[in-house]
Amino acid sequence: MIESLSLPEFPAGHVWLCGAGPGDAGLLTLHAANALQQADVVVHDALIGADILGMARDDATLIYAGKRGGQSTSQGEISQQLVDLAKTGKRVLRLKGGDPFMFGRGAEEAQVLAANDIPFRIVPGISAGIGGLASAGIPVTHRDVNSAVTFVTGHDDATDWQAISKASPVIVIYMGLKRIDRIAKSLLQSGREAGEPVAIVTDASLPTQMVLETTLGTLEADLENTPMTPPAIICIGATVPLRHILKEEPTWATD
Ligand code: SAH
Repeated sequence: MIESLSLPEFPAGHVWLCGAGPGDAGLLTLHAANALQQADVVVHDALIGADILGMARDDATLIYAGKRGGQSTSQGEISQQLVDLAKTGKRVLRLKGGDPFMFGRGAEEAQVLAANDIPFRIVPGISAGIGGLASAGIPVTHRDVNSAVTFVTGHDDATDWQAISKASPVIVIYMGLKRIDRIAKSLLQSGREAGEPVAIVTDASLPTQMVLETTLGTLEADLENTPMTPPAIICIGATVPLRHILKEEPTWATD
């Protein structure tokens, strides 16, 4: 299938900054699959699953550059590592979860590559905040519901929740599970309704996907009864209940 397309050759000494989608290997782009087949080195994040890494060449070097678990690599070290590997003439695949430019620090890495005159290519990916939610049957827009959607990180103290609350009927929160109680309170104080639908989706698109449907007013109690573990993508707004019609019936349905 891939062979019939004229996908680009991965030149030696180049870095491809590539999104791997939310988890399901089927949600990789053809460019990502093509890159995996050619790369000498794959520098990957924690959220990249074994099945996707298994698509790399048998003799490719896999380097874990995640920030989870005991081992942690600083952003500066990761960017420098990409530069150093490219300078030795390797085909360097930097593989990131979702889309590299959506809360993925891909732009920062590309800036360092540019500053060091390393040739690179950006390969977009399906972001968890769109494709991950779609895997749970949640559309981020619907013509009858919203003409705007906000993608926001849950772990920035400076976020103006009041402004977002006013401007955005649907709010998609990355990295927000730890702080969701506080975020919900801010949104309620800003005038959002306690009955407003919320979905918390963990391991979106994967066989281990779980969905907790709740509301702004009840999520704290519901999360106590049903603890969830990251990665979690959170959707707040009136598109959430559409999943009862829109979700496919996956064999892995857990809710
Ligand atoms: N660049 C990524 C986001 C990186 S930030 C993207 O475009 O998707 C990491 C956050 O993404 C996680 O904390 C979580 O909020 C979200 N995320 C990534 N993969 C996910 C998945 N399979 N299920 C749920 N959330 C996910």
